[in-house]
Amino acid sequence: MTTNPISATAISELSRRFAGPLLQSGDDGYDDARQIWNGSADRRPGLIARCTGVQDVLSAVRFAKAHDLLTAVRGGGHSIPGHSVCDDGLMIDLSLMTAIRVDPRFRTAVAQPGLKWGGFDRETHAFGLATPGGYVSTTGIAGLTLGGGIGWLGRKYGLTCDNLISADVIVADGELVHASEDENPELFWGLRGGGGNFGIVTAFEYQLHALDSVLGGAVVYRGDRLAEVLPQFRDFALAAPRELTTLALIITAPERAPYPPDMRGQSALFVGVCFAGPAEDGQAVLDDLRSVAKPDLDLVKEMSYPRLQSMLDDGPGWGLPWYEKASFADVITDEALDILVTRWSARTSPRTQLYMQQMGGRIADVGEDDTPFSNRDTQFVYMMMNGWELGEDPRPHVAWARETWAALQPHSKRGVYVNFDSDDDETRVQATYGPKYQRLSEIKAQYDPGNLFRLNQNILPATADVTVAASGSV
Ligand SMILES: Cc1cc2nc3c(=O)[nH]c(=O)nc-3n(C[C@H](O)[C@H](O)[C@H](O)COP(=O)(O)OP(=O)(O)OC[C@H]3O[C@@H](n4cnc5c(N)ncnc54)[C@H](O)[C@@H]3O)c2cc1C
Repeated sequence: MTTNPISATAISELSRRFAGPLLQSGDDGYDDARQIWNGSADRRPGLIARCTGVQDVLSAVRFAKAHDLLTAVRGGGHSIPGHSVCDDGLMIDLSLMTAIRVDPRFRTAVAQPGLKWGGFDRETHAFGLATPGGYVSTTGIAGLTLGGGIGWLGRKYGLTCDNLISADVIVADGELVHASEDENPELFWGLRGGGGNFGIVTAFEYQLHALDSVLGGAVVYRGDRLAEVLPQFRDFALAAPRELTTLALIITAPERAPYPPDMRGQSALFVGVCFAGPAEDGQAVLDDLRSVAKPDLDLVKEMSYPRLQSMLDDGPGWGLPWYEKASFADVITDEALDILVTRWSARTSPRTQLYMQQMGGRIADVGEDDTPFSNRDTQFVYMMMNGWELGEDPRPHVAWARETWAALQPHSKRGVYVNFDSDDDETRVQATYGPKYQRLSEIKAQYDPGNLFRLNQNILPATADVTVAASGSV
C-alpha cells in the first residue's frame, strides 16, 4: 500500500473545518468519486474533498495553497483531457453542489457548479425559460461555461459564456470575489472563455430566454450517401436562418430503434437540428434540405427543449476511454468534405465519431475582443472523437484522430476550442487566444500568480517567463 503524500495531520486539521466527505484511498466512495467521464484518466488523488458549499471550497483552496498541492477541480466531470482528477494531489469535487434558483421576473438563474445541464434545463423549463448549454444534458455547467459553451441554441442566443451575467469566484489566495461587468470586470472578462484558470466558481448567474419547445430531432442518411449529402448539408446550413442550429455527425448507427434493422450497425450521417422559433416556420426551412437530400429517416418533430438537449445523451458513454481533437473550420471546401469521407472509411472503432458543429448567428455578433473565446467568425467546428475498450491498446485510435485532425489543418483556422482537445499544448493555447493571451496572462497574474489552478488549458501568469505568440501556428 502506498503512503498518502498528504499528511494525516494535515487532513485531520482540514476535517475540523470541512463539512463534506474527505476521501482517501480505501475509503468507501473513493473509487466512485475519482471516476470521471474519460476512462483514460484513471488517477488516484491523495485526497478528494467533496464540497457541500462555499465554506468547504474556501477551506479546500486554502488547504491546497498552504500545502502547495497539485489541485484538480471537478464540476460535472466531463473534462476531455481528464483535468478534473489528478494523481497524489487534491481533487476539489464540487459535484454535491447542485442547487439552482430561477428568478422569472428578471429571467435569470443562479446555479452551483456541480449542476449538470439536465438539472439546469429541468428547472428553467418549469418557468418556460432556457439558456444555451451544449448538445447533451450530461456535461457540467461549470467547465462548459468557462470554456465557452457551444450548443443547440448558439446561433439564436449565443455561446453559454455570452449569457453569463456574474459569478462568485474563490481565487487562489482563498478569498471569495464577485465578478460581473461592474465588479472585477477583468476577471469577469476572463471567465467567459478563459477556462478554469482564475479560481473556482461557486455560483454562476445566467441570462435566460423565453423558450418552451423547439422543432428538433434529426434527419438521417445512410453512410453510402455521405459524399452526396455532405455538400448539400453544408450549402443548406450556410444559408439557414439563425433560429436553426445544426450538428452533423458521422456515426455507426446504434443497434436499436428508431433505426430500422437494415441501418443498425451501419455508417450514417445524422443531421441534428434545433429550430428555436415557430414549428411551422422550422418545417418550411428544413424542407429546403429534404428537397435536395431526401432523408432515409426523418425524426424531426416539435419537442420540449430539455428533450432535445438529452437526445444525444447515450452517445459518448461515461467511464470509457476517449480521445478527441477539434478545429475551427475555415471555408468548408469540397476537399475538406472529401477528407471527412476518406477518414471515416479509415475509422478504427465502432465508437469513432466525426462532427461538424454549426456556429454563426448570434455567436458571431459578439465582438472577438468582448470575451476570450476566439474564432467567433467560424461557421463550423470539426471534431473527431475516438473511443476504445478499457484495456485495449489506445494507440491506433489516438493516431486515427490525430491524423484526421492533421489532414484537416489546411482547411482549419488557428487554435482550438479549449473544451474540445485531449492534449495539453501551451503553444496551441497561446495560438487559440492570439493577441488576447497577454490580457489573460495578466488576469492570471492578478488572481493566481502561483498557478495553483494549472490543471486546465493553462494560461501562464504574466510574471512567468512567457513568450506570447501574437499569432502562432497550431
Ligand atoms: C460527452 C461530452 C459532450 C460534450 N458536449 C459539449 C457541447 O455540446 N458543447 C460544448 O461546448 N462542450 C461540450 N463538451 C466539452 C465540455 O464543455 C468540457 O468537457 C467541460 O469542461 C465539461 O465541464 P464539466 O464541469 O463537466 O467538467 P469537469 O471535468 O468537472 O471540469 C473540467 C474543467 O473545468 C474547470 N472547472 C470545472 N468546474 C469549475 C469551477 N467551478 N470553477 C473553475 N473551474 C472549473 C476545471 O479546469 C476542470 O478541470 C462535451 C464534453 C463531453 C465529454
